[in-house]
Amino acid sequence: MSHSPDGDRRQPHPRSEQLYERATRVIPGGVNSPVRAFRAVGGTPLFFESGSGAYLKDADGRSYLDLVCSWGPLILGHAHPAVVEAVVRACHDGTTFGAPCAAEVELAERVVASYPGIEQVRLVSSGTEAVMSAIRLARAFTGRDLIVKFSGCYHGHADHLLVAAGSGLATFGRPSSAGVPEAFIEATRVLPLDDEAAAEALFAREGDRIAAVIIEPVPANHGLLLQRPQFLAILRALTRHYGALLIFDEVISGFRLARGGAAEQLMIVPDLATFGKVIGGGMPVGAFAGPRHVMARLAPDGDTYQAGTLSGNPVAMASGIATLDVLAAEDGWEKLEALGAQLERLLQPVLREAPFPVHLVRAGSLFWLSLHEDGAPRTAAALPRQAAERFAALFHTLLAEGIYLPPSAYEACFLSLAHTAADLERFAQALRGALATLR
Ligand SMILES: *Cc1c(COP(=O)(O)O)cnc(C)c1O
Repeated sequence: MSHSPDGDRRQPHPRSEQLYERATRVIPGGVNSPVRAFRAVGGTPLFFESGSGAYLKDADGRSYLDLVCSWGPLILGHAHPAVVEAVVRACHDGTTFGAPCAAEVELAERVVASYPGIEQVRLVSSGTEAVMSAIRLARAFTGRDLIVKFSGCYHGHADHLLVAAGSGLATFGRPSSAGVPEAFIEATRVLPLDDEAAAEALFAREGDRIAAVIIEPVPANHGLLLQRPQFLAILRALTRHYGALLIFDEVISGFRLARGGAAEQLMIVPDLATFGKVIGGGMPVGAFAGPRHVMARLAPDGDTYQAGTLSGNPVAMASGIATLDVLAAEDGWEKLEALGAQLERLLQPVLREAPFPVHLVRAGSLFWLSLHEDGAPRTAAALPRQAAERFAALFHTLLAEGIYLPPSAYEACFLSLAHTAADLERFAQALRGALATLR
């Protein structure tokens, strides 16, 4: 065990290192999604071989308590028997037909029955696809072009949403990625979270041109930026007043915070909602949903094109259905809230003794260790450099103790129904030890 200069104790992972070296030759950056590359924490990304319940095993045979859960989909944990059985059974009957099957009706019926205000749902294969299609539909339905998003919310990688906030009071953004033409984002406005006045001013200026406001009702992609319900209520009122659609991006929060997602908890019903992650239970599934008169604009009934070769395939549907059914049968959402509350009780005394500011921000089974000085921010503030370095050291120290956190200070952590009280205690103890070594 070696001691790196920043106090963490990194362990060698020869097999992961070998695989990573091979990967970098044939895969850009060695990964198929950038956060996996460990750039925010340094070191070599771990290659995983298997997962079971709340645990992951890496290519070197080390075991980790998993607090990432594939960034949300694994709400039952890895390889839940009911999901595995449903998927295997579906595979034996053929993986895709490119034609309708009963399973897609069954998943759609569950979504419609669960989420407030929606009557129809179109199934796709990722959260990005769901958001991209919902935006097109909102533009078609309203006959308007402008889209409003919030700094600190992530909605996948569709061109017109890869926008960073402009400087000062400007709501005009700039592309947050190369390869996104200015022209693509000319119709996107970026607002700060938690700021009614900014939203009101934008609507007063351009309200009759705004097709939709899209927001994560519980923003969970820049840490966890819990919003005041009043702020979301005002977005609901503004969009209604100006004839724009309110889109809740529930790709993380949907079927995680409650059966009816954040909308149910907040008692605010959006016009459209997007889903991903939990809805596929670990298989590639996304969905967007809304009332019939809006969804009717989609092809083949309507004039708004949207399609997918593998959309609604029986294997992915089986995984989603099994996941939602276990959640419903086991009072999953109540259990997940209890688990989150238990974690909070265990971590509070540990965090109070921390040698630098660490705050727990939590919504049900979603949580974030915020290294901001003053706790739980509501807007997308950048972490001071020192805090990012502290997180990297914390990450590697916990990794050496067999705890797998997301490899970035800005990513939320996830609990699953497979996590036990003993797992949470183990995490709390490991965190106490890690914070002590970083003192
Ligand atoms: C993950 C995520 C997306 C994108 O989903 P992918 O399946 O990764 O394309 C969109 N919106 C939110 C809120 C997300 O967390």
